Amino acid sequence: MKKAFIFLGPPGCGKGTQTELLAKELKLPHIDTGSLLRKNIKEGTEIGLVAKGYIDKGQLVPLDVVSTVIKNRLKENDCNGGYILDGFPRSLQQAQSLDNILDELNKGISKEDIEAIYFDIPNEVLIERLVNRRSCPKCGKIYNLKTSAPKTEGKCDDCNTDLIQRKDDTKETAVLRFETYEKETKPLLEFYTKRGNLKKINANQSIDNVWKDLLKVIEIKETV
Ligand code: AMP
Repeated sequence: MKKAFIFLGPPGCGKGTQTELLAKELKLPHIDTGSLLRKNIKEGTEIGLVAKGYIDKGQLVPLDVVSTVIKNRLKENDCNGGYILDGFPRSLQQAQSLDNILDELNKGISKEDIEAIYFDIPNEVLIERLVNRRSCPKCGKIYNLKTSAPKTEGKCDDCNTDLIQRKDDTKETAVLRFETYEKETKPLLEFYTKRGNLKKINANQSIDNVWKDLLKVIEIKETV
C-alpha cells in the first residue's frame, strides 16, 4: 500500500536517524526539508538565499518556499510508490498545503494515506543532543559525540568525510528552534490525532529501541 509517512517531534528528537533507517528498510525516498534547504543554500539558489535568513534565526522558512521545494520533489518518479517526509509539515498551514499537494499531484496517495508518527521526548534532554550532534555532509549519517561518536574523531565511519556541525545547532539557535516548534508544529499533534492517523513512540531511548518501537508501530498499523 502506498504511504506518505510524516514525522513530528521537537528538534533533535532523533527523527533524522530513524527516517534514514526506515527509508532503507521500506525502500522509499527519504525527503528531508532541512537538508533540501541547506542544499539550496550551498548551491546559492534563490530559494537558498531566502531560506538562509530564517534558518539562521531558528524560524520557519515561508510556506510558499517549502511548499514549492516539497511539491517539486514529490513530482519525481521515485515518489510514485510512497515516501518518508522528515521535517514537513511543520505548521497547520503546511499540513493543509500537503493535503493540497497530494490532491494536485494525483499519484494515488491521498490525505488518508498519511501516517503521522510522533517522537515523544522531554525537551530537557534535547539541547544537549543538539549541541553534540555532528553529521556527514556527504552521506548524511548523523552522530552524537556523547552517545554515538564516530570511530575516528571528526571522520564519518562510512565514507571517511570530515564531519560538520550544523550552524543552527548552537545553544542560542536551538532555543529559538524549540520556541518555533512549540508555537507552530505542536498543534499538528491535535490535527493528526483528530484525523485518526497519529501514532506516538517514546523517543527517549537508545537508537535501537526507538527503531524497534517504530517498526512495531508501523506493523501494527499495517496489520489492522
Ligand atoms: P531541520 O534540519 O529539520 O532541523 O531544519 C532546519 C531548519 O530548516 C529549520 O529550523 C527551519 O528554519 C528550516 N526548515 C526545515 N523544514 C522546514 C519546514 N517544513 N518549514 C519551514 N522551515 C523549515
